[in-house]
This record gives sequence, structure tokens and C-alpha cells, in this order.
Amino acid sequence: MKNSADIDQLLAALPEDATCYGYCPDCDEVHYLTEGNSRRYALELMADLEQHKRIDFHRPDSEPLFSTDCLWAERGGQMFGVLECVDGEGKTVVLRAFSGQFNTRWQAEGWVPPTFDLAGYSQLMAKIEAAVKLMTANIEACQQKADQGKLKFEEAMGSGGRAAQKECRRQMKEACNALDLAKKKRRTYSQSMMNDFQELYQLHNFKGTQRSILNVFYEERGIPTGTGDCCAPKLLYAAAQNGLTALGLSEFYFGRENKASTRFHKEFYPSCKNKCQPILGYMLCGL
Ligand SMILES: [Zn+2]
Ligand SMILES: [Zn+2]
Repeated sequence: MKNSADIDQLLAALPEDATCYGYCPDCDEVHYLTEGNSRRYALELMADLEQHKRIDFHRPDSEPLFSTDCLWAERGGQMFGVLECVDGEGKTVVLRAFSGQFNTRWQAEGWVPPTFDLAGYSQLMAKIEAAVKLMTANIEACQQKADQGKLKFEEAMGSGGRAAQKECRRQMKEACNALDLAKKKRRTYSQSMMNDFQELYQLHNFKGTQRSILNVFYEERGIPTGTGDCCAPKLLYAAAQNGLTALGLSEFYFGRENKASTRFHKEFYPSCKNKCQPILGYMLCGL
């Protein structure tokens, strides 16, 4: 395993047309893909999006939810990706992905699925929502008690004797401590659940191995939210799972420019550094 400066040096030495790359700790080298012929398919996809103004354009009956109108709304556009692959018989297969969710949906016909177990995700979400609801109710009850405690204490300070004041102060402190504890409990619960979510991301690569994203992400910092949801990991995951060989990858942005002004309509971008590069080396391994 190289240090981050050495990895950066390896990445800087990549061919300029590399679109998707990452350091693979197993091989101690950088694996990468160029765009190959994928740009042609990406341009076709762009044209389809422009013409049909929806992402389910291959279906006769459209769902309003899949309209591209949302890509021009306040929150801005979205990344789309195309992976050119070849199957066992040498036939070209083109996979398409949108990053993250499209308008609250993880899945849409004609697009690759997310890189995590969607059924497990739904179960986990339901479990978390129920638990958080209980904890929130508890926080609210504690808040009420703490407010009452403060009020009583203030009253005692105005009119009560010393003993009553002391007792009210004790009760107030107790209620405030209970409130802090309840809040802390909810916070640590949410944090601990992040691990469970990330465990749902079981990444595949072209060597035929599978590993949790928690083991794949090699950088010391925590795994950023949304890691594994970009187009490149989704596409590679789908290709590896379906026994396809990936040949070329293109990712482009479609829609209203983002708030940070780093993404522009119909521009192509390499895989992101923050979330994707620390997992793509593993995912590209074996190609
Ligand atoms: Zn990314
Ligand atoms: Zn490797």
C-alpha cells in the first residue's frame, strides 16, 4: 500500500484520456479506463434526453416522475454515465446510469441499478425510521420536563425557601441531563447506522471478488455520503455482475449548472476524486 503522495504521483502519470481510475491496494498500481467508444453512446444518450425530455424514453408510456424537468430546478442537474462493454460472445453491450437517485427513485427501467442491496436498504430504512421516531418522542418528553424544571426553579428562586430552591435546582439539572443524554443517544444511533448502510454496498470487480465498501475505501478519512452512488461505480458493478468486460466509460453532466459552478450542461468529467477514486481501483481490478 502506497502513501497518498505516491498514489497522487501515479494518478498524475495516467494517460490524459483516462476517464475512470483509481489505485488498487491489492495490485499496488492504478487501474483505469479511457472513454473508448463510449462517448459516441453518451452523445446519443444526451440527444435522447434532449429530444424526449424524460429518462424512460424507451417506454411507450412515460412516468411523470422520470421527466427531465427536475434537472432544471433549483438543486441543479445530474451526472449521467455510459459504459461500453463486450459480452462473452463479443457482442457490444452499452450500459447507462444516472448518479444517485433520479427524482427520488433508485431504479428505472433501462438504467443500471444501485450498487447496494435495495431490499436490504428499504428494510434498514424502515427500522431506522421507527427507532428514530421513538427517540424523537423521548427527546420531546425530556424537553418538556426540562422546560418545566426551569420554570419551577425560577419560581422557587422568586418565592421559595432555600430547601425548595435546592430541590428545584436538583430536579432541573436532572431533567437537563436526561435531555442531553436522549439527544446524544439519537446522534450516536444515526452514526452507528451509517456503518450498516455502507455494509449494504457489496462491490464486485472483474476478478470475480466481492467486498464491502467499508473494506474497499482505503483512505483514512470517513467514507463520504453517496460513495458508490456515482455513475462509474454503478456501471462497473453492473458490468462485473453480468459477466461483461468494460471497455470505455464516459460521464457527463446534464441540466442546470450546480451551485458551486463546477458542473456544466453537457460537459464530460472524469470520475470524481473524493468519492470514486478510492473505490475504483478495486472495482476495475481484473479487467
Ligand atoms: Zn464519483
Ligand atoms: Zn488490482
